Amino acid sequence: MNPFVEYDVIIIGAGINGCMSAYHLHHGGLRVALVDASHIASGGSGAAGAFISPKISKAGLLKEIMTQAHSEALAFYTNTFPHHTLQKPLLHISKSAEEATTLRQFKKETQLLSTSIDEATWDLLTPQAHTSEAVYLSHGAVVNAQGICHALVEGIDFYPLHVEDLVQEEGKWRIGHLTAKHVILAIGAYPKLLSLPYLTLRGIWGHRIDIQTSTPLQTILHHFVSISPTSHEGVMAIGATHDVHFSPFNDCIYDLEAGRKELLTKASQTLDLKEVKIIRDYTGLRSGANDYLPILGGVVDAFATLARYPHLRHGKKVDPKEYVYYPNVTMINGSGGYGFVLAPYLAKRLKEYLVDKKPLNEELSPARFFPRWAKKS
Ligand SMILES: Cc1cc2nc3c(=O)[nH]c(=O)nc-3n(C[C@H](O)[C@H](O)[C@H](O)COP(=O)(O)OP(=O)(O)OC[C@H]3O[C@@H](n4cnc5c(N)ncnc54)[C@H](O)[C@@H]3O)c2cc1C
Repeated sequence: MNPFVEYDVIIIGAGINGCMSAYHLHHGGLRVALVDASHIASGGSGAAGAFISPKISKAGLLKEIMTQAHSEALAFYTNTFPHHTLQKPLLHISKSAEEATTLRQFKKETQLLSTSIDEATWDLLTPQAHTSEAVYLSHGAVVNAQGICHALVEGIDFYPLHVEDLVQEEGKWRIGHLTAKHVILAIGAYPKLLSLPYLTLRGIWGHRIDIQTSTPLQTILHHFVSISPTSHEGVMAIGATHDVHFSPFNDCIYDLEAGRKELLTKASQTLDLKEVKIIRDYTGLRSGANDYLPILGGVVDAFATLARYPHLRHGKKVDPKEYVYYPNVTMINGSGGYGFVLAPYLAKRLKEYLVDKKPLNEELSPARFFPRWAKKS
């Protein structure tokens, strides 16, 4: 008797990237197992404010991808999971002269519907917010981070399992009592499981508080921190990924009180908060790549590739298709502060790759970091 439970794909990590991948692959007809060391949305995803906001950035590949991802995310969440999606206007206020210039440029170029701020929101803002450059978009959204992750994986097999290493036997990956041809690494800023010395993923610590307040906010605000109404009357979410120094892997304890104070102080630079009571805290790490682009693609076996092409050390070029890859392992990661915006875009392309056999965009592959590391090694 086969002691293993067989799947087509095992997804490691049940954050928004893992859950969204599970959703698309399951609906694409694959047998999917989702595993997580803890529970669904226990990592960075559970802490997210989960705003579906456009990235305000300069022209280039990042902007192209973010614009497309933002439009796909708005459509996906509002059409497929309306109960977990709150549609509200969005106001992005600049916090520096440099950001003000970027916002002015964005306003000239954006296709999104931009109008003037409604009176009720204007009346809540501080004088500092009134005088700063801002973009007001009539269509914004915020999703319920925990709720959406759970809803995405309804009907999909979930296993609470801390994966220590990846073992391949007879062309199949084995994880505990599970086996599958494909593995998806959706592990965020956690240790990478495979030896990937060329891939640096920066984990940045974030904190979100839900507060009860009598301030009647009806608009999503991005300024020094992100502030938004929630689907619960009188409850507001305030969050930021601001602590670049704290790491939960370094044995230190995060100062929750100091974090709360900082969030409230920063929020009060944007609006006057009345009768505040903190009702919940969420904390977690988000993970980003050095070039700010998300990561989606096959995973290079660095030392096997160097052994096959030693002249990579001298900066000689090799077509990335010729690198040695861990067989049937795909990584989805590096979404920075835009995990909920990027997940529908990335997971849809992952499904097209695994089910419809369409190639992935090589510019998002983790392999993009490999030649530089190989030259230095
Ligand atoms: C405070 C805060 C606010 C944010 N606000 C927004 C926002 O408004 N909009 C937005 O789009 N994004 C936002 N983000 C960013 C977003 O949360 C991240 O980009 C997103 O959560 C990344 O998701 P992920 O699935 O890649 O990683 P994670 O959510 O971290 O999931 C990784 C999962 O992998 C599991 N795992 C890791 N290693 C193993 C292993 N060895 N075995 C088993 N399981 C493992 C972990 O337990 C974890 O559950 C915010 C982040 C934070 C922290």
